[in-house]
Amino acid sequence: MSGKAIAQSHFTRAADLINLDAYMRRILLQPFREVTVEVPVRMDDGRVEVFTGYRIQHNGARGPCKGGIRYHPDADKDEVLGLATIMTWKTALLDIPFGGAKGGVTVDPRQLSRLELERLTRRFTQRIAIVLGPYRDIPAPDVNTNAQVMAWLLDEYSSRHGYTPAVVTGKPVSLGGSLGREEATGRGVMYVMEEYGRDFGIPLAGGRVVIQGFGNVGGHLARLLVSEHGAKVIAVSDVTGGTVNENGLDIAGLLRHTAERRPVPEWPGGRSITNEEIWTIPCDWLVPAALGGVITRETNAGTIECKAVVEAANEPTTPIADRILEERGISVIPDFLANAGGVTVSYFEWSQNLQQHRWSLDEVNTELRQAMHTAYAQVRDMARLRGVPLRTAAYAIAIERVAEAERLRGH
Ligand code: GLU
Repeated sequence: MSGKAIAQSHFTRAADLINLDAYMRRILLQPFREVTVEVPVRMDDGRVEVFTGYRIQHNGARGPCKGGIRYHPDADKDEVLGLATIMTWKTALLDIPFGGAKGGVTVDPRQLSRLELERLTRRFTQRIAIVLGPYRDIPAPDVNTNAQVMAWLLDEYSSRHGYTPAVVTGKPVSLGGSLGREEATGRGVMYVMEEYGRDFGIPLAGGRVVIQGFGNVGGHLARLLVSEHGAKVIAVSDVTGGTVNENGLDIAGLLRHTAERRPVPEWPGGRSITNEEIWTIPCDWLVPAALGGVITRETNAGTIECKAVVEAANEPTTPIADRILEERGISVIPDFLANAGGVTVSYFEWSQNLQQHRWSLDEVNTELRQAMHTAYAQVRDMARLRGVPLRTAAYAIAIERVAEAERLRGH
């Protein structure tokens, strides 16, 4: 199922719950603007390769469009549209003054040298710059992009428009990035787990956690859960496979191991497992923190053994798998709530750039915790009131906010 189809299916369930008008459904399902570009790149051996890139702005009724850029071989138009749509709901749910967008280039960045990656980023930026701007559309990191990629984007954009730090977030701190931005998504996931765990009696201290994905989100989350809550992270994985240790993995050691570009399954402090086996390990918290579409009817939805699935990745659960988990009594903390910490600190970064004023790390984390706790409480209350799963409740809140902005702006 495509990212676009997943986003639309979840949308329809919540739109029915709030009796959304047919015309508003059309507005909110269709993207505001889709840009597809050709990205020719001079490779190190002198050849020119031509990649395809996308920037899709789903909705900007509540503010400038906002969302990351991913580099991935599967990043096609449907996936980018689905992810742009989720950004609209994510910014609305956290009540930050942005709309939703997403960008992607269909490329396997592991096949590129650093110079090729820089040239690709600069060319892609040139091609989409016409629809970007601090009050128009503000990119950020996503799968396989990072602060360095955002620095190249900033440089390329600023070389034409003058110094414009607020055109992109997730920058290196030395170029106007925010303290705490890099770990913000993982930290935000933890803040939601704190509240959910308190409400539903699943403590984090000693709680058994399995994390699929050990990149920027999964890595920081694992570290924070252990250091701030004494959780037991018993299994993690990367693209090559996973490692499991029933007594709790030494996450600090594992992070040092992966920082040296060594694969997770080669970690000597655990038993190595395949990427399929990670879904079979009984735990309290199961956290998909990599790519979309990994929890499905055909594979694992009927057999996963956990108390809660925490969607740190975007769109990890297909709608049918979501229903199966619901029937099995396994709660799902939906992606655009669980992983909204990244875009929330992106908002802090953007406002620091506009005001030319730096916040302390304490200020960032305090405001982030507050924002995540508030959004979570609103979703929990709505779910209770309407007797629906957290995802449907989160959609209902977000859709209503965007619809209200659309109505107020008029047509
Ligand atoms: N790529 C992240 C997300 O999916 C962050 C987006 C942003 O900071 O704009 O939420």
